Amino acid sequence: MKIKFPHLVEQRRITETLIRAFKSHRLPHAFLFLGQDGVGKEAAALDLARVILCSKANAESGAIDFELPCEQCPDCVQSANLKHPNLKILFPLPKPKAGKEDEETINYTAAQEKAFEELLAAKAKEYYTPLHLWGGQEILLEHIRSLRHEFSLTSFNSRWRVVIISQADRLRLEAANAFLKLLEEPPPSVVFLLTSSRESRVLPTIFSRCQILRFHPIPADRLKEQLQRRLSISSEPALISSRLANGSWWSARQWAEENAVAEMEKAVVLMRLLVSGEPGVLEVEIDKLSAASSSDQLTKLLTLLSSWLREVQRYDADPSHYADLAQYPSMKKFAAYCSGAHYDTAIAAVEEARLDLERNVLPALVLHRLFDNLQTILFNQGTSVLFR
Ligand SMILES: [Zn+2]
Repeated sequence: MKIKFPHLVEQRRITETLIRAFKSHRLPHAFLFLGQDGVGKEAAALDLARVILCSKANAESGAIDFELPCEQCPDCVQSANLKHPNLKILFPLPKPKAGKEDEETINYTAAQEKAFEELLAAKAKEYYTPLHLWGGQEILLEHIRSLRHEFSLTSFNSRWRVVIISQADRLRLEAANAFLKLLEEPPPSVVFLLTSSRESRVLPTIFSRCQILRFHPIPADRLKEQLQRRLSISSEPALISSRLANGSWWSARQWAEENAVAEMEKAVVLMRLLVSGEPGVLEVEIDKLSAASSSDQLTKLLTLLSSWLREVQRYDADPSHYADLAQYPSMKKFAAYCSGAHYDTAIAAVEEARLDLERNVLPALVLHRLFDNLQTILFNQGTSVLFR
C-alpha cells in the first residue's frame, strides 16, 4: 500500500515516522506534535486522520496495490470536508452562554456557530489555516465532557476514531483533568493527535502520556522551491517570502500572496526615517501609523521589521551571499552604516514590542518605545545621512 500525506509540506522525517507506525500497527493512543506555528503539525494530523479513517485502511482485503487515503470511499469523501463522524477537531473556543446546570448542551449564538463552521471550512480547504477564533481562549471542559459522553455510548466499535486537539497548551486545569481520564483509560480504537507550538505550557501530565514528535522549521531554500512548485509563485517573490517566513510554510505562502516585496518596503521606510534623524518626522509617522492600523497590521509590520533586520544581519556577515538581493540597495546602505551592530538585541527588542501589542499595550506607546530602543541599539554613534 502507498500512503499519501498530500497536504503536509516537507517534514519528510515526520511523514516516515507516522507511516512506519501506521503500517506496523503501532500507532500510539496519543501523539503530541510540537513545533513553531506554520510548520505543518495540524496538516500532518489531518493527513494522518484521513489515512486512518479511509475504509480501505480497515478492509481485510489482502490487496497490496492501493493508495491511502483512496479518495473514493464514502469515508474519504466525508473526511475531505473534515465532516467525518469519527473525526473530532477540538480547538480553543469562546465560553458559551451558561446553560442550565444539568444540561449537557452547549449554547452558542447563531453567529458564533456560523463562524465555527466557516473556520472549519477554511481549514478543510487549506490545512495550514490556524484554528484561531475571536475570543477563543481555551479548550472547553464542556467539549471534553461531551467527547467522553460520546465515547461511553459507543463503548465498543471496531471503527477507528480520531480526535485532534489543536493548541493542547490551552487545555486548562479542569478540562485537562477530564481529558487525562480519557488518556489514562483510552477507549478502544481511538487515536488522539495533539498539537502545540508552546511546548513549555503543555501540562506535564499530558506531555508524559503522549508520544512526542517534533517538527522543525523548514529551511528557506525548501520553502522557496515549494512556493514555486505548489503555488506557481515566480522566483523573486518566492525568494523573499521564503526568507521572511522564518521556517513556516503558512507564513511563506501568506507573504507570497501579499506581495512581500511591497510589504517589505514599509519596514524599510520606517528604518529610513529612523536613520535620517530629522527631529519629529519619525514621531509623527509613528502616530499616524498607530492610529490608522489595526493591531494585526502592526503585528505584521513588526514581523517584517525583524525579518528585515535579520536579512541585514546576514548581509552584513556575508555580502556575497546576497547578490540576489540587489533590489535592496537600501539594505546595503543600512548594513554599511551600522556594520557590526547588535542585531540580535535589536531583533529581540522588536519581538518584545510584538508581545506588548499582544498584551494590549497602547500601540503608539509600543512603537515609540521600540524606535527609541532601536536608535540606541543600532546607531548609538548618532544619526547620519548615509542611509537615504
Ligand atoms: Zn478511502
